Amino acid sequence: MKIRKNVCLVGLVAVSITACTPQKTIKKTETVKRVQKNNSDTSDNKKTNSADVSYKKEYMLHIGGFDFYKKNIADITKNDNTESYGSIVSAKPSGYMVTKNYFPSVAQNFRQRFLILHYTALNNDKSISTLTEKGVSSHYIVGDPNDREIYQIVDENKRAYHAGISYWRGFENLNDSSIGIEIVNPGYVLYEGRKQFFNYPEWQYRKIAALAKDIINRYNLSPVNVLGHSDIAPTRKHDPGPKFPWKRLYNEYKIGMWYDEATKRNLLNQIDAESFYAQSTTAPFILKIQSMLGEFGYKIENSGELDENTTKTITAFQYHFRPENCSGIMDRETYAILQALLLKYPR
Ligand SMILES: [Zn+2]
Repeated sequence: MKIRKNVCLVGLVAVSITACTPQKTIKKTETVKRVQKNNSDTSDNKKTNSADVSYKKEYMLHIGGFDFYKKNIADITKNDNTESYGSIVSAKPSGYMVTKNYFPSVAQNFRQRFLILHYTALNNDKSISTLTEKGVSSHYIVGDPNDREIYQIVDENKRAYHAGISYWRGFENLNDSSIGIEIVNPGYVLYEGRKQFFNYPEWQYRKIAALAKDIINRYNLSPVNVLGHSDIAPTRKHDPGPKFPWKRLYNEYKIGMWYDEATKRNLLNQIDAESFYAQSTTAPFILKIQSMLGEFGYKIENSGELDENTTKTITAFQYHFRPENCSGIMDRETYAILQALLLKYPR
């Protein structure tokens, strides 16, 4: 159950107080007025500890024994401009009462940093039974019926088991810090030794976009942290695959990353085809592309060799950013795209 209201962003009341010397550092506005009023008021109010009153906040709603946020407690100064509504999970210590009189502290933010997209490679019913009854899960399932429904199977504040061993830009085990969306899509079939992936229908794309947009906005997720499973586990995973419409999501919904076309074209024009292919299998060049892929976000070893992990990582990069040719070979086009992305999304 969630309570949502369209309350505009509420700046946290100016209770700029240090833990050791609260009264001295109270700054201004509402808090000070309330303290002064209490000091000069009736005897009833005089009994009240003015410092306690100044800390009290009225952010809570109590319904049926549960506490809910009634205002947005996000703090834009901490890059937290999400909407913080909903129920609160609290301790219920025997013989004591946990109150929310001083709730919330300004020193908090969200644990969610990533949005990870998957395909299930199963049909709708099997996707639901697997993700709800076995050892894997996600927060949401976007099924394949063309309707208005999206299934939630894990609370956003809890960890779902969708990412496995994973890494991106210094973060590991992304189950800890991500929201996972599983999309019902058959994945791929092997045809003459090559993977043939399946399209995402238009209506499913719209559902994914609306869901992703909502999550990204609420947690203020960085575009560089909106990823596919293959980005965070390139040696193990292919999902959501090269048919996933990353470019359209970027162009139409401003979701995730995409390179600047003009920048890419300029970079491509600067790459001489002959010398590029002459050096493409040399150790210094391979080291360079490994370090560029590592810089961009992937977990990759700088081996200086075109080993299996490097080829898989290049393939994962192509699934996302060069879906027309997922060869695992760093061709000129892929190289120019990688350079353009590094310029646009530096670490
Ligand atoms: Zn996956």
